[in-house]
Amino acid sequence: MIRINDILDQIHSYMPDADTTMVEKAYVYSAKVHAGQKRLSGEPYLSHPLAVAFILAQQRLDLASITAGLLHDSVEDTLATMEELEDMFGKDVARIVDGVTKISQIEFQSKIQKQAENIRKMILAMSKDIRVLLVKLADRLHNMRTLQYQKEYKRIKIARETLDIYAPLASRLGIDWMKRELEDLAFSFLYPEEYNELKQEVETRLGERKAYVEEVKEIISKKMAEFSLSCRVLGRPKHIYSIFRKMRRQNVTIDEIYDLIAFRIILKSVTECYEALGIIHSLWKPVPGRFKDYISLPKANMYQSLHTTVIGPYGERMEIQIRTEEMDKTASEGIAAHWLYKEGRIISKDQARQFDWLKRLMEWQKELEDPREFLESVRMDLFPDEVYALTPNGEIKEFPVGATPIDFAYAIHTEVGHHCAGAKVNGKMVPLKYQLQNGDVVQIITSKHHVPSRDWLKIAKTSKARARIRQWIKTEERGKSLALGKDLCSREFKKHRINFNDFIKTDAEKVASGLSFKTVDDMLIAVGYGKISPLQVVKRYLKIKHEEGVDLKDTDIVDIQSRPKTRKTSKEGILIHGHDDIMIHLAKCCMPVPGDEVVGYITRGRGVTIHRENCPNIAALEPDRKVEVAWTTDKDVNYPVKLNVITADQKGMLAAVSNAISAAEANILEANVVTTPDQSAHFTFVAEVRDSAHLKKVFSGIKQVGGVMRVSRQTSR
Ligand code: MN
Repeated sequence: MIRINDILDQIHSYMPDADTTMVEKAYVYSAKVHAGQKRLSGEPYLSHPLAVAFILAQQRLDLASITAGLLHDSVEDTLATMEELEDMFGKDVARIVDGVTKISQIEFQSKIQKQAENIRKMILAMSKDIRVLLVKLADRLHNMRTLQYQKEYKRIKIARETLDIYAPLASRLGIDWMKRELEDLAFSFLYPEEYNELKQEVETRLGERKAYVEEVKEIISKKMAEFSLSCRVLGRPKHIYSIFRKMRRQNVTIDEIYDLIAFRIILKSVTECYEALGIIHSLWKPVPGRFKDYISLPKANMYQSLHTTVIGPYGERMEIQIRTEEMDKTASEGIAAHWLYKEGRIISKDQARQFDWLKRLMEWQKELEDPREFLESVRMDLFPDEVYALTPNGEIKEFPVGATPIDFAYAIHTEVGHHCAGAKVNGKMVPLKYQLQNGDVVQIITSKHHVPSRDWLKIAKTSKARARIRQWIKTEERGKSLALGKDLCSREFKKHRINFNDFIKTDAEKVASGLSFKTVDDMLIAVGYGKISPLQVVKRYLKIKHEEGVDLKDTDIVDIQSRPKTRKTSKEGILIHGHDDIMIHLAKCCMPVPGDEVVGYITRGRGVTIHRENCPNIAALEPDRKVEVAWTTDKDVNYPVKLNVITADQKGMLAAVSNAISAAEANILEANVVTTPDQSAHFTFVAEVRDSAHLKKVFSGIKQVGGVMRVSRQTSR
């Protein structure tokens, strides 16, 4: 158990002249109000505030923070009041205790939404005085250290919360040691078996590698000495949770994690750091994409260091951090080390920069509506780099952040891109929209039958891949248009009793150049795209023949007489040879029936769609793809049409309207009721009619039903 003298000694170690009267007074007060209370461990309750205050003193915080640490549970758990605290210890201390009490009262929920909202509240509390958060973190740390005494369900809840909220906050404040300790503690309570097993394994391996660690440290020290750089070299094992996370994320075993130990070189100046980096890179081969310069671009939490990963003396990956003593101190203690106990002094420009991260946090939480987004941004890497990924042969490819396996495939070869069917990243299948990460080993799986789709344009990030995909789609559409154009022409020629195949062999070129096309294919594609009509081709052909003195018997030249296909008359619609998907079909949005004014639209690869001329959807279509179409009459065919009927809200309306439709000799396919809050009923019917005249008859039949207020034809967007 921590004693008050431990705390006072700790304070005097960094503030030799400090007047600790207030701290001592807080100790006496806390002992009095918590008297008789016990922790679950059986220890007197006072041991907890003492431990919290000691953690704060270890962080070299100011006297107000340490005093608040001693008092942090007094208002919540005892009869003490805020007014009393303010009277005895001043506004500062009272405010910190108040903030901590408020945070402790927040009920955290397991749902991510609630978590984020609570983090917001915490950040808000923190923004008034960052010491609130520091005391709360110290409180949480001691509770985590003694969590084994809690009941199991509480252990899980508190550990989860620590992992999701407090460890990231410690990280944001740059208090690296606390983040690691919180994570490892939380991990040990959430997954005790995995934790113990992993801990054991790591210890065994570290034991085995002790000689190796010493050897690497020796090599580095010697090399630095050769260049007259004096330095400290540390070899520190990574914390258990970070190893666990890496194993999970990469789905690898502990033997596949080479950088269990992070080496650190600590030097005197920034210049020396870069010098040392050069020496390391000449000594061992750097792994591409793993170098990070946090000296010139510090992290939001003030962290500064050079990071690199190299291939070490035995061909294994080693992570090396290079920094100055000052940076090392910031890295372990966070901004508190610089700022808090200098409180009251004038803040220099350099120190003002330390507030930037806080401002940024505040701005984020104001801007973002979705709490999940907020969590994301808190975890976000502020300095995104390029992404480097490797082929299975170790070839390195560079991509912009967000690049996907499709980009990777096109970076290898256009054909690999075109037939990319899937990808394995680090040996595991990933979706095509997977975002490549630094160091990913990517294997592209191709299939002859797999071809690009328009969706790929949304996934691909690099301009190279996008250009290749567009090119492919264009070629593909050309092919389909050619087939469609050929078929349209051949039908048109047949209608005029001219042999189309003979035409292609003999006069097609003449006709094409007469219509200012370079090739016959270009002309047929233009027909397929709807830029010219097949009739124009026939007319031009007849004209040429006429000029040659050959008069072909052609009685009735009329526009395309293409009759829409329905389920019942599939043989009569335009069906393209060998392409079932290219045909004429009626638009579902406006459901045209014979007699309606209609217009055809040549879709990309899906044949011709027939819309009513007043359909709102055709305005958005490309004008040069529109084709003229006309109905042929065929009394045997029925066409579906959708009707909206609004009636008074009275009994029997559905039956009455249905009867009217049947009486008009129309078949009802569907009937639906939508009741509306006003005094009306809303029905929709799908009925089958022969043509627009028949539809009129149905309309007037419905209108004669008493209670019907409105009948209209439905067009959907
Ligand atoms: Mn507490």
